[in-house]
Amino acid sequence: MQILHNVDKLSPMAKENTALAERAKRARRIVRNPTLYKVCMGCDSIVASKVNICPNCHSYRFETDESEVVAQAKALSSREQNSVVAEDLF
Ligand SMILES: [Zn+2]
Repeated sequence: MQILHNVDKLSPMAKENTALAERAKRARRIVRNPTLYKVCMGCDSIVASKVNICPNCHSYRFETDESEVVAQAKALSSREQNSVVAEDLF
């Protein structure tokens, strides 16, 4: 996939593609280090493993299994979603 740097000159469609690319990049980071993340069982957001309460839905139950984190990261990167991913929390 081509990396686009100047978002301001892009069409809305291209901006959406850039957002998708950004999400894919985040997903790759999560997939590389799944132990740093966990999946909220309340809203399926991926949050940092150090978080105790989900900032999105205030759930305190998380799936910490690495394979689940990886699967969720791949799922989130491939579809539209409004959930918080880990980088949004910092
Ligand atoms: Zn949640």
